[in-house]
Amino acid sequence: MSPEPKVSREQVLDALRGVEDPELHKSIVDLDMVKDIQITDGRVNVTALLTISACPLRETIVTSIRDRVRSLPGVGEVDVTLGVMDPQERQALITKLRGGAASPTRRSSFLTPESPVRVITIASGKGGVGKSTVTVNLAIALTQMGHKVGIIDADVYGFSIPRMLGMRGRPTMIDQMVVPLEKHGIRVMSIGFMLPDETDAVVWRGPMLHKALTTFINEVHWGDDMDYLLLDLPPGTGDVSITIAQTLPQTHMVIVTTPQAAAVSVAQRAARMADKVNIEVMGIIENMSYFQAAPDQPPIYIFGRGGGLRLAEVQGVPLLGEIPLDQAIREGGDEGTPIVLSAPDSPVAKAFRTTADKLIRRLPVPVA
Ligand code: ADP
Repeated sequence: MSPEPKVSREQVLDALRGVEDPELHKSIVDLDMVKDIQITDGRVNVTALLTISACPLRETIVTSIRDRVRSLPGVGEVDVTLGVMDPQERQALITKLRGGAASPTRRSSFLTPESPVRVITIASGKGGVGKSTVTVNLAIALTQMGHKVGIIDADVYGFSIPRMLGMRGRPTMIDQMVVPLEKHGIRVMSIGFMLPDETDAVVWRGPMLHKALTTFINEVHWGDDMDYLLLDLPPGTGDVSITIAQTLPQTHMVIVTTPQAAAVSVAQRAARMADKVNIEVMGIIENMSYFQAAPDQPPIYIFGRGGGLRLAEVQGVPLLGEIPLDQAIREGGDEGTPIVLSAPDSPVAKAFRTTADKLIRRLPVPVA
């Protein structure tokens, strides 16, 4: 009988390259999280360093390490010992994730001109027109098209993205770096994650909000594989929108309106604000365009007709989509499972996907 093959340290290290930190989306080897590998008679002990001791996904990391190493020929038992990075190791990791720059004031990579991340702000003139609903469904649609998507919920007083995506919890902090929460493959930051519970009101004044938003933009680790960052703006044309516009120099805007004349005229103000701060409006999305009780029934134009198209014509931009009024859209938002996810073959989901596709075709191709 031939002797059992012996596993080498290099083979174990190679296998560990396939283990990703579930929050940072990089190999634990690249993140210098593998501290030590000991092999004795086919028994492998891996010592891995967590970024922080309260790492919420420690069990996931241990299981992935064990599974990967155990699948190597010549490996019997696998023991995983967990440690925690010291402050210098953490700082080195943050520096590495930020692409080598140690300064905490450095702007995050998606703000640099060569960044492939395209930023899309979703704005509306007034509240309740479905801006957040459109944001989450577009985000899911883009994910289904194979893109990596993040959302910044900048609707600080009326944040609803966490509920619409069924998210709870607090982002992990690695020293001064914030790791966004993730659901349905979408990375999200919201003021909602900072409050004790969903019903709490934000009582912050302008400067604090400004600080929170710039933190979301500058200090959140969005990862270097993101394609689109969607920003759900507060309704109207206030300070927050200007802050965002100034912080994100290469952003594009989409305006959501209902067909109603009153909604269209306030939406026009949002478009004017965009012009003033030099953000290009890529198109209009008309939401709650019509209601259709059944496929063989005629559409009913509850909020009037043609408002989105009129606004598009006035602005000289395309109408990117007309989303019907549909009970399942509202239910999906309330339950935390957007309709594009729960009923991907429904006409409504198709309308969102077509809209997402038209939108991204309008965006400039990244320089990279
Ligand atoms: P905004 O972000 O503009 O304030 P929301 O996205 O929070 O608006 O939507 C307001 C309400 O209308 C929510 O309850 C949402 O579920 C519902 N809603 C939005 N769009 C539709 C639609 N097309 N059909 C049915 N309900 C919708």
